[in-house]
Amino acid sequence: MTHQLVISDLHVSVGDKEIIRGLSLTVNSGEVHAVMGPNGSGKSTLAHALTGRPGYTITGGSATLDGVELLTMSPSLRTREGLFLALQQPLEIPGVRPTDMLVAAGANPATVHESLRREADFVALRPEILERFVNVDLSGGEKKRAEIVQLGVLQPHFAILDEIDSGLDVDALGLVARRLFAATSEWGLGIIAITHFRRLLNELQPTTIHVMSAGRIVASGGPELAEILERDGYEPFRAQ
Ligand code: ADP
Ligand code: MG
Repeated sequence: MTHQLVISDLHVSVGDKEIIRGLSLTVNSGEVHAVMGPNGSGKSTLAHALTGRPGYTITGGSATLDGVELLTMSPSLRTREGLFLALQQPLEIPGVRPTDMLVAAGANPATVHESLRREADFVALRPEILERFVNVDLSGGEKKRAEIVQLGVLQPHFAILDEIDSGLDVDALGLVARRLFAATSEWGLGIIAITHFRRLLNELQPTTIHVMSAGRIVASGGPELAEILERDGYEPFRAQ
């Protein structure tokens, strides 16, 4: 079965400042959409708004998964609907074990330990690390890999990955990118990957690359767009 995530004319404010200013993006199962753009263009705000983080006010537009509006749901219901978010700075949750969190998010309690071990193996994360409280005392790179492990266990329909590459060394980056790419065919994962780096895109093979500026998508294209960005920077795409 294929699924569709449709973000339509989204407007998001933080305080009284409008940061996302009319953003539309459609992702189908198995597709990889890269979102690139200069610092402060609203990429992380997009991720936070879609996950329902308090303080991010939706002032217009919609985000639907198979026609069901997500933006009025609680964050945990969004996860249960099949939306997974990997934050730029993963949260530490003292007192909560990864397995408990995953079961609360919908993972099968009978198989969660086995799935965790298999997924940890994919990204070369020592399984003992997943017995600690969620993200507590993990290095930056370990947190990023732990997020991918959670994703692999939950098998969401769609994942929004905010700079999943930051803090990863080259080897870990390759493992993470290959795990994500495999997921697009294994269960049809659709991905929105926010990134600055072409190295991730080389492995992830995006369907479409979008350039974001001042809260909007100002250009979309194929892999050639990443090359143009690397050569010319974001300046030619800057919105007014
Ligand atoms: P990006 O991820 O593209 O670098 P962000 O979405 O983090 O950009 O930020 C976009 C703009 O929104 C910036 O000007 C930033 O200062 C502002 N912003 C984001 N979150 C907050 C917040 N919680 N409070 C105040 N301003 C914010
Ligand atoms: Mg950001």
